Amino acid sequence: MALFAKDPRCHWCKRTTKLTNDAYMSGNPDPLMATIDHVVSRYHPHRWVKQKEGEQRKVLACYECNHARSVAETNALSRAEILRRSQGFNLNPKGKPVIIKPLETVEEVLAKMGERGILLKA
Ligand SMILES: [Zn+2]
Repeated sequence: MALFAKDPRCHWCKRTTKLTNDAYMSGNPDPLMATIDHVVSRYHPHRWVKQKEGEQRKVLACYECNHARSVAETNALSRAEILRRSQGFNLNPKGKPVIIKPLETVEEVLAKMGERGILLKA
């Protein structure tokens, strides 16, 4: 709501997004539906580093841009890579994620993942 109040346009395509109020969505969402998009992907170790003061990591995006970004990104990774990364982060298919609270640096994130045998590139 705060992002929408500041500027209702999509961060990526600059079209004006629409706030929706559907408790249960059925069918395809409105392509212009306002969503929160994370600038840093959940697949990226930087996501698990503490935010710096004033750092903007979330933006308002239309559903179409948000979804297209997420699909393109997932398609760019191999199945093995997606599983490897998911085990460290909050998509964990096997229980507890390795990192629950954000760490100070990417090096710490990579070290923590390395301890569990999960090797990532920064
Ligand atoms: Zn857009």
